[in-house]
Amino acid sequence: MNWRDISTWVEFTQLAADYKPVNLGQGFPDFSPPQFVQDAFCKAVCGGPSMHQYTRAFGHPPLVKSLAKFFSRIVGCEIDPLEDVLVTVGAYQALFCAFQALVDEGDEVIIIEPFFDCYQPMVKMTGGKAVYVPLRPVCGSSIPSSGDWVLSAEELASKITARTKAIVINTPNNPIGKVYKTEELQMIADLCIKHNMLCISDEVYEWLTYDGAKHVKIASLPGMWERTITVGSAGKTFSATGWKVGWAIGSGNIMKHLKTIHQNTVYHCATAAQEAVAQGFEREYELFGTPESYFQQLPAMLHLKRKKLASCLEGVGLQPVMPEGGYFMIADISSVKVDFNDESTKDEPPDFRFVKWLTKEKGLGTIPVSAFYSPEHSKEFDKYIRFCFVKEDSTLDAAEDILRKWS
Ligand code: PMP
Ligand code: GLN
Repeated sequence: MNWRDISTWVEFTQLAADYKPVNLGQGFPDFSPPQFVQDAFCKAVCGGPSMHQYTRAFGHPPLVKSLAKFFSRIVGCEIDPLEDVLVTVGAYQALFCAFQALVDEGDEVIIIEPFFDCYQPMVKMTGGKAVYVPLRPVCGSSIPSSGDWVLSAEELASKITARTKAIVINTPNNPIGKVYKTEELQMIADLCIKHNMLCISDEVYEWLTYDGAKHVKIASLPGMWERTITVGSAGKTFSATGWKVGWAIGSGNIMKHLKTIHQNTVYHCATAAQEAVAQGFEREYELFGTPESYFQQLPAMLHLKRKKLASCLEGVGLQPVMPEGGYFMIADISSVKVDFNDESTKDEPPDFRFVKWLTKEKGLGTIPVSAFYSPEHSKEFDKYIRFCFVKEDSTLDAAEDILRKWS
């Protein structure tokens, strides 16, 4: 095994366990989920024998019903809870089922970079080939924003071949926070329709948008419901990443193939966690669009944390790219001169060396951005590191202290 074969999350979670830095690395809240889902989980666990036993393979009935009801209103079509929804072990397993079910040996899958790192090995496991198209930063605004990172329609079209089966998008994007605009999604949709491609749309951060950016589901564009698999995560939706409840939603004639993989691999995920997520969605259905909705409260809270982290980074001369959505902010480290003096990392890219140095020597955990790129493009982007801001203010203050003392 060489060092690149280790998952970023395995490697950097271990580093954090070993050095115990102030952790703005792995993307998880260091605060509790909202009380109503915690209560729902407790109630489920104490709710009698059935909550501790197997439930329906493709999703606990109350959960598929709540998901279908909730998302029908957003996608603008009638989602069938039994045909069109699959509940999975986190968004990870929804992605895994989608790739396994839909990509055959020799098929090509277009992945837009930067991308959540598991897409690439998941495509490889099918015998398919990942083809990469990077978002490129264009100079424009005086304050760099994830909105400046754009996809070239020509470059994307040039990568489509007779073997292209699917395109994977992630909006809001991890790690840069780009929220795709309707025109950008329409351009991708037009190509999907023209070339008969599927779209796997990873929308785990769908509720987290800032400064008026609006999350649009590509499945809601004309002609896209029948060719899109939309992936979501209760971990991100309700700040409960350890529950590992996710889902894939799409047309029943596509979903039946994902279900074949799911029923023969994990069968289903924890019944009580599914019950609690169902209760959470029922509550949110009633409160949707009101200030009491968690889907309004969480982004409002994160908006302030994003601002806090951005001003801290600017204050120490690390230029951040303002994310329009999601949990993360990236910053350019090329102006920082560090004598790494660490033989063990000498063959690694600069961002990996920097992150390891920052963790070990300064006690601050972050994630290198080139981990979100293919080997062919990673060099162009190894001057950025990623900070997670879904953290208590006290954690962000501790990170600021470290940065101020050192810079
Ligand atoms: N997609 C993206 C873009 C992610 O950031 C993550 C990590 N949360 C996942 C999928 C996996 O989500 P889950 O924890 O629900 O498996
Ligand atoms: N999605 C999370 C992140 O980007 C972590 C996923 C994981 O730890 N496997 O930080």
